[in-house]
Amino acid sequence: MNILVIAELHEDSLRKSTHSAITFAKNVGAPFSILVLGSGADKAAQEAATFGAQKVLVADDASLKDPLAERYAPVVAQVAKAGNFDVVVVTASSYGKDIAPRVAAKLGAGYATDISGVKNDGGKLTFKRPVYAGNAFGYCEVQTPVKVVSVRQSEFAAAEPSGGASPVEKVALPAADPAAARVEFVSLEAAKSERPDLGEAKVIVSGGRALKERFAEVLDPLANLLGAAVGASRAACDAGYAPPELQVGQTGRVVAPQLYFAIGISGAIQHLAGMKGSKNIVAINKDPEAPIFQVADYGLVQDLFTAVPELITELKK
Ligand code: FAD
Repeated sequence: MNILVIAELHEDSLRKSTHSAITFAKNVGAPFSILVLGSGADKAAQEAATFGAQKVLVADDASLKDPLAERYAPVVAQVAKAGNFDVVVVTASSYGKDIAPRVAAKLGAGYATDISGVKNDGGKLTFKRPVYAGNAFGYCEVQTPVKVVSVRQSEFAAAEPSGGASPVEKVALPAADPAAARVEFVSLEAAKSERPDLGEAKVIVSGGRALKERFAEVLDPLANLLGAAVGASRAACDAGYAPPELQVGQTGRVVAPQLYFAIGISGAIQHLAGMKGSKNIVAINKDPEAPIFQVADYGLVQDLFTAVPELITELKK
């Protein structure tokens, strides 16, 4: 078995999400290579070469400057075919989820999404993945010879560089795909924040609809004090109290920090689907019957507008 890990880049470095896809490959226990796509991708390729891969394959071209799935997918599919890779793995980020189904279609491969575990039984892979909005786990096998999988960053600890340097090889690019010609990169408007990314934060302070217009005023000081990322329920985002990129849950980000504060969040199953894997959950809610208390390790039944400032005062001591 031979695994191809698709790297995700931020500027000219590997994103932490790539480290989780590498851990998936290491857990399978088969040789793996890493494919780095971009324009001027040398630095990322050198970084990828420190994780014990058989090879680092580099598709470096001006046409790959921006991560457009329509341009990346044909390259990934060609590299997977040429190298006889059995498994193509991406992290289930918006980047990975954009590319993976296109690659699967081009390869005629089955696609298993949002993998949270893998078992290798003499070459037969069984994937663990959430079903029923994260309320249960199912186990599946992909029957096609080539398999495409997306893995949850929150379930595979980031791989550490293992030293050494894998050989780095440039790959030939396929002829321009007609689908790519219809797509043009216009601009990227990335939210700028001094805070850690939700997917990588050790502590997340998350707020719900209860915070209303005072969302940032109440939560930011706590998040600043803890060096935490800020998250939000969908209701808080839909109401405009928090920006949409902060949404945690079934239709938002899936997170698993060491510590998750759910403040004024009821604990609807769609929210739990995105944060239930957190190591420690602290809930602050004035309703003792709120479902969030069923998953909380620590619960405080109190008005959040009193509790949060008190917590900040205590933490400062
Ligand atoms: P509410 O349900 O209004 O709860 C507010 C909570 O705050 C209550 O428990 C209340 O007791 C408490 N409260 C009020 N005032 C105070 C106070 N002063 N002090 C302390 N506590 C107080 N939701 C997500 O979060 N993420 C998703 O990804 C998501 N995806 C969805 C997908 C689908 C298809 C659907 C149908 C729904 C989805 N939802 C999602 C919405 C979800 O069902 C809930 O509606 C939402 O999570 C509720 O957000 P909330 O807990 O902030 O608001």
